[in-house]
Amino acid sequence: MIRLAIIAALIYIIFRLLTRSGSSKQGHVSPPPPDDLLVEDPVCHTYVPQKDSESLRVNGTTYYFCSKECLQKFKTNQGA
Ligand SMILES: [Zn+2]
Repeated sequence: MIRLAIIAALIYIIFRLLTRSGSSKQGHVSPPPPDDLLVEDPVCHTYVPQKDSESLRVNGTTYYFCSKECLQKFKTNQGA
């Protein structure tokens, strides 16, 4: 009975080691949450979080800006 418990414990330890080594291969590689997605401001080339950016849709393409000033500059450049 005691031997059976030791074998069970060994199987458990081996199982834990195997699962741990298997998951550590891709451990730190996790995609960033969508909230932290960075977008490039085409005016000043700053990367800003998409949720905090000003967006403008032109001909089916969405542009993101760090501020309303950059959005305004972009609009001016588009018109020229
Ligand atoms: Zn900007």
